Amino acid sequence: MEQNEGSHLTPQKRPKKIPPPVPKKRPKSAPTVGIGNGTVQVDEPNPILSVPKEVLVSCDDLTRLPVLYDDVVLGCIASRYQQNLFYTWAGPTLVATNPCRPVPHLYTPKEIHHHHNQVKSGIDRRDAHIFSVAGLAHHRLTHDLGFINQAILVSGESGAGKTESARYMLEYLSNIETNFPLVPRSPLKGVWEDKQPQDIQERILASNPILEAFGNAATLRNHNSSRFGKLIRLQYGGRQLRGAEIDTYLLEKTRVTHQTENERNFHIFYQFVIAPKGNLDSDLASLRETLHAFKQLDFSMSHQKQIFQLVMALLHLGNVNFSQDKENHNSWTVDRHNAECLKSLESACELLGLEEDKLVDALTIRTISVGTARRVSVFHKPCETEAQCVERRDALMQLIYASLFSHIVTYINTQVSAHRNLWSHFLGVLDVYGFETFDQNSLEQLCINYANERLQQEFMYRYLAAEHQVLKEEGFLDVDVPYTDNTDCVVALDSNISVFAILNEECQLKRALKEDEACDRVCKALEDTGVVHAPSSPKRKAGFVVRHYAGPVKYDAKGLLHKNKDEVPLEVRGLLASSSQDFVGGLVFDTSDVDPESGRRTTRKVTTLAKFKASLDTLMRTLARCDLHYVRCLKPNAGSLPGQPDTGYILHQLRACGVIETVRISQAGYPVRISYEDFISRYGWLKEEDAVDVSKEIAKSMLGTTQEGHIDSVKCRFGRTRIFLSESALHTLEAVRELK
Ligand code: ATP
Ligand code: MG
Repeated sequence: MEQNEGSHLTPQKRPKKIPPPVPKKRPKSAPTVGIGNGTVQVDEPNPILSVPKEVLVSCDDLTRLPVLYDDVVLGCIASRYQQNLFYTWAGPTLVATNPCRPVPHLYTPKEIHHHHNQVKSGIDRRDAHIFSVAGLAHHRLTHDLGFINQAILVSGESGAGKTESARYMLEYLSNIETNFPLVPRSPLKGVWEDKQPQDIQERILASNPILEAFGNAATLRNHNSSRFGKLIRLQYGGRQLRGAEIDTYLLEKTRVTHQTENERNFHIFYQFVIAPKGNLDSDLASLRETLHAFKQLDFSMSHQKQIFQLVMALLHLGNVNFSQDKENHNSWTVDRHNAECLKSLESACELLGLEEDKLVDALTIRTISVGTARRVSVFHKPCETEAQCVERRDALMQLIYASLFSHIVTYINTQVSAHRNLWSHFLGVLDVYGFETFDQNSLEQLCINYANERLQQEFMYRYLAAEHQVLKEEGFLDVDVPYTDNTDCVVALDSNISVFAILNEECQLKRALKEDEACDRVCKALEDTGVVHAPSSPKRKAGFVVRHYAGPVKYDAKGLLHKNKDEVPLEVRGLLASSSQDFVGGLVFDTSDVDPESGRRTTRKVTTLAKFKASLDTLMRTLARCDLHYVRCLKPNAGSLPGQPDTGYILHQLRACGVIETVRISQAGYPVRISYEDFISRYGWLKEEDAVDVSKEIAKSMLGTTQEGHIDSVKCRFGRTRIFLSESALHTLEAVRELK
């Protein structure tokens, strides 16, 4: 939160004057907002009626709304949206409502210039715009003493506009670097020796189309949905952008082999296969963009060929089918009698540099080890069902794709990151999947929702709880802003006795996975937490329900342990190592037995949940070193239709991302806080020992000139160490000061 504290006292300028409210008395039972189709359905009396529409439209900060009912907050966002005002502050958080149609005039170089000038002129209150968030973070990074790391957290549900927002911010940051350099450009060293600063920015921006081609897919919710989380850290040395580093989280690799009806696989498959065949749709344009980006990032032609060979090999592997052995009905093998299948098998082998028999064996013959550590007997057994073969083929395909994706990210990093000596601090932009709840939720949703719980917890600690604490410490015991503390949920998910612990333990046991039983264990062990419980209807499939801060989610037992164990059969892993092509052989590093916490090898099976938790722990440690900025993206309606805000749909998202709470806290706490000493030095004339009393007298006399002799407790409160002012009180004081 931007606070005017101590000697940093600068009056906040309001762009627009808001007329005083005409609040109606709040009815005892709060009016409810119904989930409607683009309509506000509020029980009478409708408080929105008491705030004129022009006030709602002109209010670009929810915390400055004169009346603070949920429906007024909603009314403000919806009315602004209808007037093409897509951005609104919620205190320090920017609420960005997806226009769902192109609005290029908002992101022109002229707009960049305008926002950059605003930042430069030091006006704390900037226009509600995505560029303002990037501008503020950049300003704090490059102007504050000590060069504090900055991180912008962009969140929201699928299709809300996170990736677009992150992209606009990166464009802003690279544009100002080129057009408004803060320092004379110093010569670059190391990998950048022969590069111009502009090359760095181009390269950083070029990483986007590549990551989107390999990591995004069309889903029912978003035609360009990111199927991985991403943190891009722009590295600065002094005030100059030197490079960037990208971390990715939890690629949805199962999409390579399974897609929900009417959803697609990752874009690259369509770009590569369909587009060149003359199907002149958007995939062809995207392919051109991907190839151009490869070139910008110095992927050599042979390197690109290797990558595309793998993409092609995966397409062929997907066509490899299995049939029952005619002689031995208990075993299944690759259906070589089917000409198409045989052709695919041969092509896949050629592209992957594998011997055909070796691939067939890896897909259809299981290696079983029995015995003790001292004496192990190894048996080879043909797969007994088609499903077993398909599972092995899918594991191979997922392994190849996930390894290829991480190879690409690693390579991009070598091309965009600066040498460690050249940078000292960073500005990060985090684009992570928002809270998800579907009819059927599995391990992916558990990971995503857990990540959101951790980020929400950090948000709360940093902002909500800290704010609350400050108010209490200052003696405002009467200011009690209720907020949802999700610590219990985080503990129930990841502590020693938790959902994660139980699911991990079940994967360590040397026995067949029993998913229903594991879920029962979870329910029984955690029923006292109040966070986890069994599904209420016995008819429903096995699983467990977690009460997340954004709402309850039922996770289905089916597939949960399987995905958590994420077992790639040893033969399948070893198969790739036997490739005659170095690129394929070196792609798969066996990290399955490396403990993500200690980095040491372990005999324990390292599960998906354990790896994911470790990567989030690292992320949270990174964020702990940063000033945080928040962009909360909203989807105006489920169908992503322009111009039709569905208030019920929006309200749910506002609650889920904590905006409603932010607004309440910001209103309860006063945005301007000045120590008594600073208050006296700015507004007083005497230096007295008892600063509190003097400050009170001064504030009374100054504010009293407009408050008919009494000091308005809504506008000013006296804490133990500081005076707390509303924005309007500050303006009054500043106006009186001018007159003196
Ligand atoms: P996911 O979690 O599925 O990756 P997301 O939050 O990243 O979703 P985006 O891909 O950024 O969503 O946005 C979805 C679509 O909404 C975009 O493809 C674009 O059509 C539209 N959109 C988002 N932001 C804007 C914007 N600022 N201006 C115009 N259109 C936008
Ligand atoms: Mg996205």
